Amino acid sequence: MQKGNIGVTTDNIFPVIKKFLYSDHEIFLRELVSNAVDATQKLKTLASVGEFKGELGNLTVQIKADKDAGTLTISDRGIGMTEEEIDKYINQIAFSGANDFLEKYKNDANAIIGHFGLGFYSSFMVSKKVEIITKSFREGAKAVKWSCDGSPEYSIEEIEKSDRGTDIVLYIEDENKEFLEEYKINELLNKYCKFLAIPVAFGKKKDWKDGKQIETEEDNVINNTNPAWTRKPSELKEEDYKNFYHELYPMAEDPLFNIHLNVDYPFNLTGILYFPKIKNNIEIQKNKIQLYCNQVFVTDSVEGIVPEFLTLLHGVIDSPDIPLNVSRSYLQSDSNVKKISNHITKKVADRLQEIFNQQRADFEEKWDDLKVFIEYGILTDEKFAEKAEKFVLLKNVDGKYFTLEEYKTLIEANQTDKDKNLIYLYATNKEEQYTYINAAKSKGYDVLMLDGQLDVHFISKLEHKSEGKCRFVRVDSDVIDKLIQKEETKKVELSADDQDALTQVFSSLLPNNSKSNFIVTFENLSANSQPAFITQNEFMRRMKEMAATQSGMNFYGEMPDSFNMVINTAHPLVQRILKNENEACNEKVTPILNKIAELDKKRTELKGGKNESDLAEAIKDEIKKIDDELSSNKKEKQDIFNDFAKNSKEVKQLVDLTLLSNNLLKGEALNQFIQRSIEMI
Ligand code: ADP
Repeated sequence: MQKGNIGVTTDNIFPVIKKFLYSDHEIFLRELVSNAVDATQKLKTLASVGEFKGELGNLTVQIKADKDAGTLTISDRGIGMTEEEIDKYINQIAFSGANDFLEKYKNDANAIIGHFGLGFYSSFMVSKKVEIITKSFREGAKAVKWSCDGSPEYSIEEIEKSDRGTDIVLYIEDENKEFLEEYKINELLNKYCKFLAIPVAFGKKKDWKDGKQIETEEDNVINNTNPAWTRKPSELKEEDYKNFYHELYPMAEDPLFNIHLNVDYPFNLTGILYFPKIKNNIEIQKNKIQLYCNQVFVTDSVEGIVPEFLTLLHGVIDSPDIPLNVSRSYLQSDSNVKKISNHITKKVADRLQEIFNQQRADFEEKWDDLKVFIEYGILTDEKFAEKAEKFVLLKNVDGKYFTLEEYKTLIEANQTDKDKNLIYLYATNKEEQYTYINAAKSKGYDVLMLDGQLDVHFISKLEHKSEGKCRFVRVDSDVIDKLIQKEETKKVELSADDQDALTQVFSSLLPNNSKSNFIVTFENLSANSQPAFITQNEFMRRMKEMAATQSGMNFYGEMPDSFNMVINTAHPLVQRILKNENEACNEKVTPILNKIAELDKKRTELKGGKNESDLAEAIKDEIKKIDDELSSNKKEKQDIFNDFAKNSKEVKQLVDLTLLSNNLLKGEALNQFIQRSIEMI
């Protein structure tokens, strides 16, 4: 037997491996199984070029757990190693500046392992002793057993081994006994080894016989050696893509589309990406793409490697060219990774364009589900946005789909306002905004349906891009004649006192509270239009909607919904209400108005155009008295209007009907409305 020291320039590599790599120690199995697969593939390659002339035989990699002995064994029938090769590949770990590096990356297991090719040594994270029993495929090679207990000392001796290949025997440490449990091994194999290219068997298949579970002769192969992404697109049918999707995500619904990536220049990358079927909560859907390196699972946190918006997709990316074993911050600045990321974006956009061109009907049918991805892409990735311009669709309330260009052509003639701006009308709820949609349609306008969770951001982006030449306005954001203003509107012919009176009358009946805030405004519309409307300011509403999906905008999120109650002064009903109000209130209000005017005049005189602070104390006191008197007069006036409103069935009925048509009449108020309506019938 020979003894020696492992050629590490620092004595403490094992404590480092154990301690610092603790969090990721389950990857040891991935490292050992992929070494076994590599050794097997190398032998296959040698056989194919005629350098290995023996029988390949069964090449399955075997994994066995022996709880009694406390060992986990990974066996392959690959090329094996000679004593010299063990010395070269296992004993002499090429190290330089090891201490510095370990210090820097001590929290990043993958970085250390990748950098030093410590794959095999990761076995010491879970083992108190490791043996390599190996025999090279070379003719006349002698089998050897290497053994190491986790100190920098190893022993190596010749032994008997009938078959070529390597057994790695791990003597699992007491505190890591879970790695001898069947469920745990299955879990790790399923996570890391599911698609390795050489069959990997964990024990034997089990069967039921006479009510007992027995082991069969058949290997329990845990992997699919020929996953869809490694095959040629021309070999695969729609069904195959679907089946593979369910292999990856057994619980998911069928995907919408797939994109088969197959790149060999300027880097190697294969994979299949899927657009999954989701509508809401895009946040929780992230991190579904799995990253592989030559069919070995590496990670499913792909931020920084694929473009942000594609983290919403599902599927697999496999590339030996992504430096997978280095730290994340390095990855994000790596130029290769950037190139790959850009390339994937381009591929995805091209594929969508292709589906759009070739199967527009299918594309439209899936659009509602697809939309969230595409809008997210447009909002977060300029390159994608440029390409998506040609296939992003707008859907109108009648369920018809248009490209941006097509839609522009459709509405250009009729929906350009007097300032030459193109106005896109939209609804977010067909039921609730029914009357407004109808009004717009009767003018020959088209109305879009924009009820997606990113629509509000999307339209803001389109507006921004058009440099103010186009605007999106919701159908209920103004009265119909002003939605798309084609000529100057008629002036409201109502005295200030009348406007004040009507404002107070209507305001007193509107539900002003912390959730909603109504402002009464007047328009001189046609007598055929409705007497009153509720509109919601586009800007404020949109800010609130954006606040709901964006942090840092709480200011808007907490504001009440603000509505306008628009009174059509040309409508006979409004004129009648005004007349009734004048008759009922004028007698009482006129003296108060006179009084207010008088007080106002006095106040102005007292102040004499000076600043508040420059006034003498006596004058200040007098002004204060006038102010008190003014507010009590105003209050008195308001009470008169409130009283009128409270007793006027027609005002109440009009306000309630207007609220009702906007779904804003609720609870007690709704109940009263129904009662009153019945009485009126
Ligand atoms: P890496 O796999 O990154 O090269 P490892 O430490 O895992 O680093 O392995 C070092 C070397 O040891 C491998 O490159 C290979 O030459 C050899 N080796 C490891 N495992 C086996 C095996 N099961 N059969 C044959 N050779 C192996």
